[in-house]
Amino acid sequence: MRIYEENIRDIHNRPGEMRERKRGFATPEAFGEALATVPAGEHMDLEVRLESVHEGILASVTARTTMHAECGRCLKDFTAPFQVEFQELFAYTPTEAEEYGVHGDHVNLEPPLRDAVVLALPFQPVCRPDCPGLDPETGDVRDAEAAAESAVVDPRWAALAGLLAEESDVSRDTGSESK
Ligand SMILES: [Zn+2]
Repeated sequence: MRIYEENIRDIHNRPGEMRERKRGFATPEAFGEALATVPAGEHMDLEVRLESVHEGILASVTARTTMHAECGRCLKDFTAPFQVEFQELFAYTPTEAEEYGVHGDHVNLEPPLRDAVVLALPFQPVCRPDCPGLDPETGDVRDAEAAAESAVVDPRWAALAGLLAEESDVSRDTGSESK
């Protein structure tokens, strides 16, 4: 994808030289395929710093965009600001298979950017930190009070709600006995 390529001709083999660039674009392809994704066509801003070092080009990248997610507790769709930072060395002569290389006069930020975004997208997104989730009996979104009073945990709901909910249930149910 050309959109992710950075021209490094003017700092190639010139250790100490540095370039900073910013740009925004619509993502040509989606990132992620779980509950949280950055869909194709979403706006993304990139801040890129390229430093020429002896071994190659060191890229420091900050990406800002919007993730689209389904809440793991109440199953509601929501969007939220999403930011990720990473640093990657593009070597002139990559020595290992997993190392990225300089290709002619450019580096391709797409593979490390994709890795960083997909890793940082939440595996179990929640629409808000105190989302009470679904009522295990009616399937409706619970209000926070009812959620706090109810000790009934549907196994399916617990699996969706994940560790946060399990931890709070544990502390509520056994906290007084264990301490
Ligand atoms: Zn929710």
